[in-house]
Amino acid sequence: MQHQKKLLLGAHMSIEGGLHKAIERGIETGCTTLQIFTKSNRQWHAKAISLEEIEKFKQAVTASSINPIVAHASYLINLASPEEATRKKSIIALKKELEVCSQLNIPYLVLHPGSHVNQTTKEGVALISQGLDQALQESPGTTIIALETMAGQGSSVGSTFEELAEIYQLSEHKKRLGVCLDTCHIFSAGYDFTEKKVYEAMWSEFDKTIGLERLKVIHVNDSKKELGSRVDRHETITKGKIGAEAFALLFNDARFFDVPKILETPKVTLAEDIYNMEIIKGLLTKETKELLKVKSEKAA
Ligand code: ZN
Ligand code: MN
Ligand code: MN
Repeated sequence: MQHQKKLLLGAHMSIEGGLHKAIERGIETGCTTLQIFTKSNRQWHAKAISLEEIEKFKQAVTASSINPIVAHASYLINLASPEEATRKKSIIALKKELEVCSQLNIPYLVLHPGSHVNQTTKEGVALISQGLDQALQESPGTTIIALETMAGQGSSVGSTFEELAEIYQLSEHKKRLGVCLDTCHIFSAGYDFTEKKVYEAMWSEFDKTIGLERLKVIHVNDSKKELGSRVDRHETITKGKIGAEAFALLFNDARFFDVPKILETPKVTLAEDIYNMEIIKGLLTKETKELLKVKSEKAA
């Protein structure tokens, strides 16, 4: 089957009312990919998903043109915790997340690498790699864990490309590890990509350390805070400190046409997702629009 090029763009969608509801929301807003939490993201415990709910979800996905679906793991998981009990709990929770992804045929699970709290970054990196290996070892399936680039708040690990590369290098399950680049987070962490020259330099650094082939997901967010602020506050596309040029460069970059791009921008209703996607479509060049078969609002 020939792969049809399309604009791979969507948003994080609520699963309120059932997992399949996220797909309905995706269709309503015109997503071609989307992200979900497979359970409440601030609770350890997940109630088992019924076979009926799994089937309903898979059917909704198949009937839609939304592909791939991305899952985001719980915020509570901390593989780098200095407390052994928390690490154990985190590994169990991560295994559960992988199992659910497997049941739902979800190819990517985005994970915050972890916070070392009062240890060194090096110790944090080692614990994360060990935790990932244990969870992956005990979880058959093909779902890839995409480690998210972090803004650098507190003691979080993963705010530099080098830290993510080290976690990967130490792992024995490299085939099931990738990276999710969050534009707001890397900007807050100090990576500038707001104009052509620094944009190219940022990606060549990413390629040298992590490798472009390990990029599985992009979280597309503008930033309320300045470059290097280390504070994670998402903003509507082009309305923040990152601005239009960076997103124009990103969305017209053919290297990333096949990478799912997910909005996590502030919203009250689905209207904001539609608005952000329209802004992005407005940044596409004529050439990109033709290649990705994006219909222009204006009659061609
Ligand atoms: Zn995240
Ligand atoms: Mn993110
Ligand atoms: Mn964030």
